[in-house]
This record gives sequence, structure tokens and C-alpha cells, in this order.
Amino acid sequence: MFAKTIARIEALVKGTLFDCRMCGQCVLSQTGLVCPMTCPKGLRNGPCGGTLHGECEVLPDRPCVWVKIHHRTVGDESLDRPNLLPSCDARLQNTSSYLNLLSGADKVGRTPLEYLNLGERRTSLPIQTQSKLEQRLKSGAFVKTCELRAPRGASVDKLDEQASHVRDHFDAVNATAYLNARPSLPSAVVAAKLAELGIDAVCQSTCRDHTKTSFIAELLSNQLNGVHNTLCLTGDSYQGIPKIKQVFDMDGAIMLYEGRHLREKGVIYFTGERVANAPRTFLGAAINPFTEPANVPIRRLKQKAAAGADFIQTQLVFDMQAFEDRFMSLVRQEKIHEDLFILAGIPVVTSKKALEVLPRIPGACVPQESMRRLSSASSCEAEGVQLARELVEQATKIPGLAGVHLMLFGPDHAVLPAVIEKLESTPIHQPATASFRAGKATETPTV
Ligand code: SF4
Repeated sequence: MFAKTIARIEALVKGTLFDCRMCGQCVLSQTGLVCPMTCPKGLRNGPCGGTLHGECEVLPDRPCVWVKIHHRTVGDESLDRPNLLPSCDARLQNTSSYLNLLSGADKVGRTPLEYLNLGERRTSLPIQTQSKLEQRLKSGAFVKTCELRAPRGASVDKLDEQASHVRDHFDAVNATAYLNARPSLPSAVVAAKLAELGIDAVCQSTCRDHTKTSFIAELLSNQLNGVHNTLCLTGDSYQGIPKIKQVFDMDGAIMLYEGRHLREKGVIYFTGERVANAPRTFLGAAINPFTEPANVPIRRLKQKAAAGADFIQTQLVFDMQAFEDRFMSLVRQEKIHEDLFILAGIPVVTSKKALEVLPRIPGACVPQESMRRLSSASSCEAEGVQLARELVEQATKIPGLAGVHLMLFGPDHAVLPAVIEKLESTPIHQPATASFRAGKATETPTV
């Protein structure tokens, strides 16, 4: 009774002052008095990739909670790596954080995790997994990846044909699924099918849809099915469908930590249990290089690298010069590319219908000029392929960039090999010290 009364008073006072959501393990002192639980995704460690111009992806009339937290705690210049907070202990929800503080019940939930000791200059360390993507990246090749969408029905008939267009041209292929939270075949099922076809597949897991239990289970089944890469994502918000309960038992950084802990120690972090034949997954993450201010994505990148990410596939890059100026130059300054491989997300827009969707993609920064160019072209497909080829060529001149990840907005995967045609004839190594300006690198990339 006493505990309930205190919790009610706390909810009233802190609810009024901080819009507190009563997680019972208060971290306001670490987040500049901004409650992270007011993030519609309940993220505990940093922004999702959907924030642009400081706005929230889910509630665009509100500022992104995590941009506010960065601003309040370290300002808009600091590039320090943030701490990594564990996800909430669900048992403490709606209890008094004051009483939990006194009893120590919230200690684990408020104490930052110890980052794993993963070594230095990790991109130069010997091969650690069975991923062919890891082998290609560590060979110094400028890699190419693309994606195939999971079918919405219970059939993979079309997948064989789509896979045949990309199998011999790309180093790895992501199986995308559950776009906008819409049901489809699971990514893990499609990735297993791709692995059967001889493709190095990337399973995409979202914390929107996973508990820690189901995420670890997915890593286990991927290992069994020969899928050695997993991309850990937040997951975009549902659009135009009835509201669903989203999980967010973890954020992307905690997914990475769980996956990496399992790989390094053979132990599931959140249960403490040892696992026989623990999956040694090559772990990927996403980042939005255009999140503002520029220190926010750099700090989040550092956090994800320390949490265990091996590679990054970025949000769409339409403006390669801005990508270099706002993001990659800081990546090199902070030497983050020495710890993980960064692949630039390249849009391949081949239909006018897909073009209309682009501005609605959470976090996508689409310049008016690109929209005009594609919408006024007599053949959107030809222009979209040409634009993507230009972006790929510019990307090869950015020092520290390890490759490109093609994202198709259109129906026909047969166009994708044409986008990377030049790369196939010219394997490229990146000189670490070259300074890039679009179209004229001061040092020519060498084979
Ligand atoms: S943009 Fe993403 S991280 Fe920021 S408040 Fe909205 S849901 Fe949360």
C-alpha cells in the first residue's frame, strides 16, 4: 500500500515535470532530465534512423527525444562515445524509482554496461566468422551488397528468379522483411533460402518485432541455416495500418551487444547461460548520416561499434558530397572506419510510383534536385540507374568507405548489375589519407 502510494505521487509529480512514464529505473540524471521513455519507441540508448531535421519519425510535430538528450547532456559539438544502458527491467514498470533506488532494485537498469574488449583497429583483425562478406571486406575489396524483399505470401517461387539476377554480382544480399511492420515471410526464412542458393545472405532483425529471447533464437536458427550475417535494426514505424504493439525489448545497440557477447563468450548476456555451438555472427547495424546535428550520428556510430557492430549499411545517400562533408570526414577524424566497415546506402529508383514513396521513407533525405531529375526523365528506370551509377562512382572516391549497399525502389532486380558494372572490372582499395571532393579525388584509388 505504502509503495503504491509513493508510486502514485511520483507519477503525478514526475509526470507533470518530465512527462515521466514510470519505468521504475529512473535515468533522468544521465539524460539531461529528458525521459527517454517518451521516445515513441522507448529507445534507451540513442536515436533511431528515422529522425531528420531534429524531428521524430513517429510524431513529426515533436522533436526527437534523443536529439534533445544529446543536446542537453553534451551539446552539439562533442563526439564522445555515449554509455550503453541496459534495457529496462520490465518487472519494475509502474513502481516507484525512489523506492527502487533506496532498495537497490533498479541498480542494474541504471548502470551502464561494460563495453566488451574487442581490440583495436578491428577491421584489420583476422577473420572471426564464417561470413563471406567479412572475408571480402577484410581482403580490402570495395564490396557491393543489395537487397531482396521477402515475399508477402507463403511462396518463394519468385525469389529464385530475383536471386539469379544478383547472385554472381554482389558480395552479400540482405533479405528485407516486415517493411512498415507489414507481415511477410520472415527475413531469416528468406535468408536461409538465399544461403541455399549459394548467396551470402544478411538476415535483418528488428527490435520492433523481437524480444531478446526471439532475437537470440533467430541467431541460433541463422547459424543452423548457414546465414552468417545479421543486420540489427530498430524497425520503422507502422504507416497506415491499425496500431500494433511494438516490442522494443532492446534497442539496436543492445541487440548488437547481445549478439556480440554470444559470439565472444558463448554466453547469452541477458540469461547468463552458456550455449553449445554459439553462433559467430558477423553483425551489422544501420546509421542515418544525415541526422542533425552531425555529432549525433557519429556518437551513435561509436556506441554501436563498441557494442559489437562489424559493419554499417547507411540510410539512403542521394548527395555524396554532403555525405562526405557531414559524415565521412568525421568518421575518419575519429578513426571509426578502423573498427567497422561502412557501406553507403545507394538508392536505385526505377519507377515513378516508387519515386512518390521516397519522401515518406523515415529518415530519408531526398534533395529536390534528385526528385526533379527522376520525375522529369522520359525513362525513370534509365535515369535511376544512371544516377545510382554516378553515386557509386563518387562513393569509390571516399576514403574510409568500404563499399556500397544498393537499395532498389522498383520492381526489377535485373537492373542492379548495371549499376555496379564498373566496380566489377575495377576492384578498388581506398587510400586512407586521400581527401575527397565529388568527381575529383586528390589521390586516385588504386587496385
Ligand atoms: S525519431 Fe526515433 S529515436 Fe527520436 S523520438 Fe522519434 S522514435 Fe524515438
